[in-house]
Amino acid sequence: MITPPQQRMLSLRAIQAAPSPTLAITAKANALKAQGKDVISFGAGEPDFDTPQNVKDAAVTALAKGDTKYTPSSGTVALKDAIIAKLKRDNGLTYGRTEIIVSCGAKHSIYNLMQAMLDPGDEVIVPSPYWVSYPEQVKLADGVPVIVPATEASGFLTSAAEIEAHITSKTKLVVINSPSNPTGAVYTPQVLRDISDLCVGRGIYLMSDEIYEKVLYTGAEFVSPASFSEAAKKLTITINGFSKAHSMTGWRLGYAAADLDIVAAMSKIQDQSTSNPTSIAQAGGVEALNGPQDSVETMRRAFQERRDVIVPALNDIPGVHCLNPDGAFYVFPNVSALYGKSWTPSGDAPRTIGGSDDFAAYLLEKYEVAVIPGSGFGADGNIRLSYATSMENIKRGVARIAEAVQALA
Ligand code: PMP
Ligand code: GLU
Repeated sequence: MITPPQQRMLSLRAIQAAPSPTLAITAKANALKAQGKDVISFGAGEPDFDTPQNVKDAAVTALAKGDTKYTPSSGTVALKDAIIAKLKRDNGLTYGRTEIIVSCGAKHSIYNLMQAMLDPGDEVIVPSPYWVSYPEQVKLADGVPVIVPATEASGFLTSAAEIEAHITSKTKLVVINSPSNPTGAVYTPQVLRDISDLCVGRGIYLMSDEIYEKVLYTGAEFVSPASFSEAAKKLTITINGFSKAHSMTGWRLGYAAADLDIVAAMSKIQDQSTSNPTSIAQAGGVEALNGPQDSVETMRRAFQERRDVIVPALNDIPGVHCLNPDGAFYVFPNVSALYGKSWTPSGDAPRTIGGSDDFAAYLLEKYEVAVIPGSGFGADGNIRLSYATSMENIKRGVARIAEAVQALA
């Protein structure tokens, strides 16, 4: 006779973790495409451009040279120096090598940070709509995400006063992501300064996720909160990476710049979990930062042209309301006026659209259009579309959405 296990198989942490909806829906759309379905995907946020050739060549050269061994766990000296030069050049920030850690994607940098900084019960303020992984990563570190809702009326932006109202004696960290995933909203330098001053005044850390730094349409210069003062720099953890600006999503390369004690703690976590990010990816990263930057601007312009097509096209659909984003490559239209309507799958009972999950399922099942429900971003009235896809896909995809909306009863 087999004795049943005495303990529950999985940890509570694993049981309670939500899967990433951005990755799940994109995988589903790709599986349908592989079956020959004509799926148009507005799913995962990844540039549809190839990684620049000079970056690929640098990795190939590194491979041929035999750079295939462990590197220092927190990143090669060459890549840290390229990051240091980038932070100086683009952000006016001065860091040393011990204040930089390179990880397997910005997602991994944020994971390391939460593991390094949070004790059970520590609170992390996360404005919503938020990128799906922030609250989950806080919870994976036994922290408590405290959501500060930013309304559509305020352009999906919160304020220092709203953040302050959510501070308690347990607040450890505030998360800011500008330009934002999923809304594309961009904070003004003044609001960023107010939030930074609040953190400095209250002795709270600030994580600034700057991964969409280069995808900005306002014409304004990007501002890093760590640059406001020495005190701000001490409390700010700047996160950035290669996925978006350099179209290197699959390379898994990101980094954090912070106070050396924070970086040392993150490095310990990384030492004992993944060790270094892939050696040849790091060689590509050096070239991405030190080499020509024209591809970054070419992609930014293409995204802006697409934004200028997708936003009015969505707003032309009755029941859909879409703000014009100032950055990133997402639109986050409100579709809640359509909730309560229904559709009938062939040979099945009618289904009512109760929220963003139902609406996204309807679009995928009946019209073969993949979008991400707003529920995973803390905004069930909305859906997210990534317009990092061809203009043709944008036009065909939005036409299908218009048809789908019209067909609802
Ligand atoms: N931050 C934000 C806001 C993101 O949208 C993403 C995902 N694209 C990441 C971090 C992680 O990026 P990566 O791990 O690919 O560097
Ligand atoms: N961050 C991208 C997105 O939001 C990629 C998927 C993910 O890592 O969540 O679509």
